[in-house]
Amino acid sequence: MTFEPSEAQAAVAATARAYARERIAPAVRENDRSEKFPVQLIRGLGELGLLAVNVPAEFGGSEAGAVAAALSMMELAAVDASVAVIVGVTNMVAEIIARYGSPEQKDRHLPRLASGEYLAGAFGLSEPGAGSDPAAISTRAVRRGEGWVLDGAKQWITSGDVAGVVVVWARTDPELGGGRSITAFLLQPGMHGFSVGRHEEKMGQRCSSTVSLAFDGVELPDEARLGAVGQGMAIALSALDGGRIGIAAQATGTMRAALDAAATYAKERKTFGRPIAEHQAVAFMLADMATSHDAGRLMTLRAAGLKEVGASITQAASMAKLFASEAAQRVVDAAVQIHGGYGYTEEYPVAKLYRDARVQRIYEGTSEIQRMVIARNLLRGP
Ligand SMILES: Cc1cc2nc3c(=O)[nH]c(=O)nc-3n(C[C@H](O)[C@H](O)[C@H](O)COP(=O)(O)OP(=O)(O)OC[C@H]3O[C@@H](n4cnc5c(N)ncnc54)[C@H](O)[C@@H]3O)c2cc1C
Repeated sequence: MTFEPSEAQAAVAATARAYARERIAPAVRENDRSEKFPVQLIRGLGELGLLAVNVPAEFGGSEAGAVAAALSMMELAAVDASVAVIVGVTNMVAEIIARYGSPEQKDRHLPRLASGEYLAGAFGLSEPGAGSDPAAISTRAVRRGEGWVLDGAKQWITSGDVAGVVVVWARTDPELGGGRSITAFLLQPGMHGFSVGRHEEKMGQRCSSTVSLAFDGVELPDEARLGAVGQGMAIALSALDGGRIGIAAQATGTMRAALDAAATYAKERKTFGRPIAEHQAVAFMLADMATSHDAGRLMTLRAAGLKEVGASITQAASMAKLFASEAAQRVVDAAVQIHGGYGYTEEYPVAKLYRDARVQRIYEGTSEIQRMVIARNLLRGP
């Protein structure tokens, strides 16, 4: 057992770290304020191969594996969780297409996702009435001739307004209830009847766009189907297993940023004649933050390591996502506390970290859903 990344994995992380510090960091505040999608930053990440880290090189990916993808995500999130989530979802969509796509779908979409030509990929599962329970979706695709006609709506779709390709899940057999009747499709902007609705005004992660999508009689050829008819829920669940490692990595990056900011501040700020870091109450907060960060990082990399060797990751990914996102909440709270009144202002980075961290406990399955997954696996007989 080794706890150190390989040379190749460390190189991917170093590339992400350098880009995050040199290019993303100077724009963080303005991007948060303006809520504008960071087009140029995403193109730069495409040039560096960070939009399809775990995708075969023959399709334009970096083929660097799941551990490198997690390390890269930690580095980006330590500077801006908004950029990290855009990149995370694009990587997830690229991996889905690489795994389940037809040869034509792979040739068409993967090089464009990997290079940044598409700006983003989007994952269209949640609906206004179905988030935690995706088997309850009501978007439907009905057979017409050789193809399909899609009607319905999606909600909360990250990058749904800028993505070059959107994976959309729809019910294809109204007779069958639950997940067995769900099929995935690949949609592209400009298709007749496909429109983008409201942009959510969010508490954090503000330069990542979150939109609703509407489908009004969208005609799709059968070639737009991803995987087999009825395979959609299995595709979504396996993608979410991997995506949860991405969110765990994001939360770990957030923890590192909060810890770094709080430790720096605690060494500078003086009360009662000495740096606040020398007050045991503050030093102990920093110790707990560092321990949480370390545990989140180890759990995330363990899940990524299991993914890399093709082992089952459902349990490890849910545990990493649950732990890291809940721990990040406590860590950003402590970071604000250590900054005192200054922590409550936008003058210091911790206020944004506090806002950004909150959604990590919600998307790609809330903490309650992660506990359900973990308990179900735990209680299932040997
Ligand atoms: C910023 C942002 C970006 C997002 N991006 C995407 C995206 O790109 N693609 C996408 O498909 N979705 C996306 N989502 C949606 C996200 O995954 C859902 O919001 C999330 O799964 C929760 O669903 P919901 O909001 O419908 O809450 P609900 O399912 O209505 O849950 C409400 C509350 O009830 C709890 N709850 C529900 N069921 C149970 C249960 N059985 N036991 C105990 N508690 C329960 C939940 O934990 C939660 O606390 C995004 C959301 C946000 C906020």
